[in-house]
Amino acid sequence: MVNALYMDNSYLRSWKAKVIGVKDGKFITLDQTAFYPKGGGQPWDEGFIIKDNDKFNIVYVGKFSGEISHEVDKEGLKEGDEVSCELNWERRYTYMRYHTASHLISKILYNKANAKITGNQIEMEKTRMDFSMVDYSPEKLKAYVDEANEIIGQNLPITTEYMTREEVLGKEELARLAVGLPANIKEFRIVNIGDFDKQVDGGTHVNQLKEIGTIEILKTVNKGKNNRRMYFILR
Ligand SMILES: [Zn+2]
Repeated sequence: MVNALYMDNSYLRSWKAKVIGVKDGKFITLDQTAFYPKGGGQPWDEGFIIKDNDKFNIVYVGKFSGEISHEVDKEGLKEGDEVSCELNWERRYTYMRYHTASHLISKILYNKANAKITGNQIEMEKTRMDFSMVDYSPEKLKAYVDEANEIIGQNLPITTEYMTREEVLGKEELARLAVGLPANIKEFRIVNIGDFDKQVDGGTHVNQLKEIGTIEILKTVNKGKNNRRMYFILR
C-alpha cells in the first residue's frame, strides 16, 4: 500500500519518492505521495514529478484498488527511479478551503434543518452542494450560510484522528453517515472542526477555519424537497 502523505499533512507540497510501478508508460505509482486522488467531491491534485531536471506533468491522479495512480504527460519514468514531487499548491489549497467550508455548511444544514447532503463537487471557482431539506427557502439558506461565516470567525482548529469501525458506530454523529462505510476497511480517518463537527473523510482540509475566508452563495436551484442545490464561492 502506498503511503498517502496528504492524510496526515495536507500542507506538504514537495517530497522525495521512489517510483514503484509504471503501467503503459504513463501511469506511475510511488512509494509515498501527497498527490490527492480524485474522490469525495474533491478533484485530483496537479503538479510535477521531477527526475534529473526532467519534469513530468501530472494530468490525473486516481485511486484504483487501493493504489494511487499518477498519470503523467509523457513517458520516461522507470521503476526504481528516485524522484522529487511538487504540488500545484494554489489549486490544492483552494480545494482545501472549499472542502472544509462544505463540511461546515453540511453540519449547519443538518443541525438546523435536518438536511442531508446527497452530493457535492468542489471546483476552483465554486463548489456545488446537493441536499434534501423539507422546510426550505432561499432566505433560510442564506441565514445558515451567515451562521457558517460567524463560526469561521471563531477560527476553530481542524484536526484528524483515526478510529476503528466500532468506535465510529459508537459515535452518534458519525453513525448516521456510517451506512456506506466499505466493509473491508478497518480504520477510519475522522476530520474534526473543533468540537463542532466530526466526519469520516479522506479529503484535505485547512488547519484553521479562518483560512476559508467568507462563504457567499452564488446560486440556488430548487427541484423539490429531496433535490435542493447550492453553489457557493469563497472570498
Ligand atoms: Zn469531506
